[in-house]
This record gives sequence, C-alpha cells and structure tokens, in this order.
Amino acid sequence: AQSRYASLRDLPATAKCGTTVALHMNAGLMADLPSLAGSGAEGVGLFRTELQFLIRAHVPKRGELADIYSGVLDAAKGKRVVFRTLDIGSDKVLPYMKRVEEPNPAMGWRAIRVALDKPGVMRMQLQALLRAAKGRPLSVMFPFIAEFDEFRTARQMLLDEVKRERQFGHQLPGALEIGAMLETPSLAFAPKEFFELADFISIGGNDLKQFFFAADRENEQVRRRYDMLNASFLSFIRQIVARCEEARTELSFCGEDAGRPIEALCLAALGLRTLSMRPASIGPVKHLIRRVDLTELREVIDRECASGVTNIRAGVMNWLSTQDI
Ligand code: PEP
Ligand code: MG
Repeated sequence: AQSRYASLRDLPATAKCGTTVALHMNAGLMADLPSLAGSGAEGVGLFRTELQFLIRAHVPKRGELADIYSGVLDAAKGKRVVFRTLDIGSDKVLPYMKRVEEPNPAMGWRAIRVALDKPGVMRMQLQALLRAAKGRPLSVMFPFIAEFDEFRTARQMLLDEVKRERQFGHQLPGALEIGAMLETPSLAFAPKEFFELADFISIGGNDLKQFFFAADRENEQVRRRYDMLNASFLSFIRQIVARCEEARTELSFCGEDAGRPIEALCLAALGLRTLSMRPASIGPVKHLIRRVDLTELREVIDRECASGVTNIRAGVMNWLSTQDI
C-alpha cells in the first residue's frame, strides 16, 4: 500500500478546488520518526509524550527527557513537532505512580488535571522541552483542557519556566507556540478570549466523540454505535471551526478519524486545514483529497445535514461514487 502512494509523497494534498490541507503524522516514540520522511508528512501534529513515561520503571530524569526530545527535533529536521504534555491518569497508569482507584478513569483525574494539582512532573517536563529546543522553535500542547482557566494556568506555568531558564542564562527556543487540545465539549463553549490566547487548537476527536455521545471509546459495544459522520457531531465541528476562524487561530484535528479517508475529506470540507494521523494513512487521505472538489463536498454535507438524516455517510458515499477517484 505504501508503494501505491509513494508517487504522491512529495506532492501537496491540494483538492480540485485549490484548497490545500496540511497532513501531519501522530507519533510517540523515537522509532516513529523515520516515518516522517517516508510518509511525506509535513510534521508531527501530535507527539504523545506519555509513551516515554509508560515504558520506564522509574520517572525519567529531566536530562534524559531533554535528550529524547532533542533527538526527536533532530530527526524532524526542521519540520514542526507538536509535543503534547503528559496525558496520564488512572486510564494510563504509570508503573511507579500510586494508583488511584476511580470509578470512571477517562473522566477522572487525568492529563492536565493531574499536572495542575501536582505540577512537579509537568514542570520538569516543560523544562526538558525548553532545553531540548536549543534555539529551535518549540510547540507545546496541553491535553484534556475543559475550561479556559486550565489553559491559562498551564500556559503561565510554561511561561514561568521560560523566565527561569532565561534567569539561568540557558538558551531559549527560537519561537514558542502554546496550544490546547479540544477534547471535551465544554471547551468549545469557552469565552472568545480562550480562542484568542491559544496559538493553536487541536481537536482530539477520540475523546471529543466519546464525551459528545457519552459513549466509552474503550467499550466495543458502544464505540461503533456513533460515528463522526453523525449530523449533530458535524454541526458541533462546524461551530468549533467558526470559533477558531473568528479568532484567527489555527485549528487541526488529530484523532483517529483524521486518518480515515472519508472522515478526513469531510473534515477538510468543513474547513479543517490541518489533519494529523498515523503515518500509513497519509497516502490514502492525500490521494482522495487530490481527487475531489471540497467546495462541492461542502454543499453535499450542508444538504445532507439539512435533510434531517442522522448520519450523512450514505449521502457522502453516494456523491463519491459519482467522482473520478
Ligand atoms: C484524542 O483524544 O483524539 C487524542 C488524539 O488523544 P488520545 O487518543 O491520546 O487520547
Ligand atoms: Mg485524548
């Protein structure tokens, strides 16, 4: 399959209407980085940093992490890497952390909630990231933000670390972007100041969908019941796109749906200009985007959504069957 799309590797994902969608890849380990060149991804749109913590028997040391992050930036050769700070909790338990029993771990004390309540590990991680940059641009994204204050506080923690690094005379990143993951419905309704303060926002569709439909992403019985092409969910995505456009804030989508070709097309038609996915999905998604007119698809989606159907997949497939793909 890789070779089938190899000829597309260095071509942009430009649709027939002229719109270009930036395709980035998701990663979590140094071993993923070779895929950056192989897949033709423009960068790493989501680097899940918890994997480095999960594979160890002890808390990694700051220097150790800085070396890993620096190696990731070296391997990216100037392409953008968005580092997501630790997303751990009782759903992703670290072997060396005291286990907290929670009735609903996915909705429990995880990710930014842990980091804000017990900031030691996140401060260490932020210091490691700042040191790893060695003058290069750095992008940091905070996971599982549910309200504006959480983002403001986390962002300030990072800025405090920048100040400390400066006081110590350490080299600072050449540029710093601070973003938030939108994975809880509440954040979509945050004040406009949130959308303006964030340098970028990335929709974590896996969690967002789980909380939008109240359907556990780990539960096979319910996870397939609802899909991204549900008209209500698309209407919600549209609102997020509109709020980001209004604030002129870059919006991306990094959940699994970004790597499913039909879903990716629909996200692009709804205004998403950056998608981040597993490397193997880049070829198929790019192929499809290059074959269609997204403005036309947008009209199909609008019409389908206005028709009162629950799910627009059949309508989109119907339209696709008339396309030369
Ligand atoms: C998501 O929730 O969509 C996401 C990208 O984060 P994760 O899958 O790591 O929870
Ligand atoms: Mg998530």
